[in-house]
Amino acid sequence: MKAGVIAVQGDVSEHADAIRRAGDRRDESTTVVEIRKSGIVPECDVVLVPGGESTTISKHLHREGIAEEIRAHVAAEKPVLATCAGLIVLSRDAKDDRVDPLGVIDVTVDRNAFGRQRDSFEAAIDVEGLDEPFHAVFIRAPAIDDVGKGVEVLARWDDRPVCVRDGPVVGSSFHPELTDDPRIHDLAFAPEREVEA
Ligand code: GLN
Repeated sequence: MKAGVIAVQGDVSEHADAIRRAGDRRDESTTVVEIRKSGIVPECDVVLVPGGESTTISKHLHREGIAEEIRAHVAAEKPVLATCAGLIVLSRDAKDDRVDPLGVIDVTVDRNAFGRQRDSFEAAIDVEGLDEPFHAVFIRAPAIDDVGKGVEVLARWDDRPVCVRDGPVVGSSFHPELTDDPRIHDLAFAPEREVEA
């Protein structure tokens, strides 16, 4: 499997490690490449959009022509995992003019709804498809407000959706790369293979 991690900002190497760990668990060899320019997404089986600053990431994706490639990747039903700022960038509406969202996750988001940097927190949350709770780390995390018809809510915290699936795309408000647990990466990138195993 070839995995591409958008490498503008955020926990690029932590995500790459989690993708490799998830691959090891399935006995699948995984190549991880960093994406800063166009031309690489079309070669990838799966794509990850990390957290960071959604304004910066969104600008970069549009400027470099990567935004269109991600849309084509999703239209081809290939998996994407978007975390925190990544979720904001891939949403339908971020309710902020400084973010030009790609609209591949049919949700609206409220940037920083879960507080500023000092308000970051951790919580064990139940996630649909995982047998044990997942230890979720929230950092200036967005909340998901309006969920479109075709979107499945996989997890909630404080009664608000924090992890969703829209077709081949999984979005999470929290940072699954900050623990040793690769189950969210698995959930996004190998749902059927997991079941078969
Ligand atoms: N709230 C940030 C934003 O709007 C995202 C924070 C994060 O990715 N940890 O971009």
